[in-house]
Amino acid sequence: MFRLSTLDSRLSTLVVRAFALTSSAVMAIFYDTHAHLDYPEFAQELPAVLARARAAGIAKIISIGTDLDSSKRALRLAEDFPNVFAVVGWHPSHANEAPTDFRSGLRELARHPKVVALGETGLDYHRLPSQKPEFSAVDDECYKNKQADLFRQHLEVATELGLNCVIHQRDSLEDTLAQLEPFADRVRGVFHCFANDPPAMQRIVALRSMVSFTGILTFKNGQNIRDTLAATPMDQFMLETDCPYLAPVPYRGKRCEPAYVKEISEVAAQVKGCSPEELSAATCATAEQFFRGLGSDV
Ligand SMILES: [Zn+2]
Repeated sequence: MFRLSTLDSRLSTLVVRAFALTSSAVMAIFYDTHAHLDYPEFAQELPAVLARARAAGIAKIISIGTDLDSSKRALRLAEDFPNVFAVVGWHPSHANEAPTDFRSGLRELARHPKVVALGETGLDYHRLPSQKPEFSAVDDECYKNKQADLFRQHLEVATELGLNCVIHQRDSLEDTLAQLEPFADRVRGVFHCFANDPPAMQRIVALRSMVSFTGILTFKNGQNIRDTLAATPMDQFMLETDCPYLAPVPYRGKRCEPAYVKEISEVAAQVKGCSPEELSAATCATAEQFFRGLGSDV
């Protein structure tokens, strides 16, 4: 009886493996390495959003925190759904609301076993206070210093804990690289939603960091980004949606969701001149190597 049931369980394991092999043969698997699943846009139908992702072959999703509460929500989602992982941190655009020292908060959050990196962190000079009449260049400097300080705290804690960082960079490439450089032998960054040119990508790769591409890759006016992807080494980039933002064609302008990595991957495979399976193998291996613990079975 015992032997029979052992045989049964072995057989069922084999059946599951065979099924997995068959389904991966018909559908290339991808990961959404940057999603904001905790945003209110998903609150009403998260199980359906995740089911559509699974049906589209998006096997793992990383939900990215943008402040303390958002990071805690990302962790709860990672606890509720086996294929969801979390990145915890404080977004530079919210730097003014951050505590002066967020390092102990980061350490605490990062103790969770499903935290795969810190972020999103970095520098964003796209919207500076002086764009409003009541603020001046002095306020801009103050805001930039606050962002820089918060970014440095993420890099310090990442160094301590042996984690990598998800980096948000907008109109701030020089300062972001300058801040990353002293940490570059210990911490790697993924410059997410990458929209810069090939020389910028090469400077990032030279620091052992990498880039990731969103739905912008599919936009009619996204040729410069396709050119950057074409120049990016096959093992130095990942795919992401940055949902609920930046839905790829043909959903452009609508709410984005993780399932749409499929559309992004189709354009990426064309640009790289490879098969979906080759792109799947390369980008999933890169993500598993970059994000600690992402490779564990779900
Ligand atoms: Zn983001």
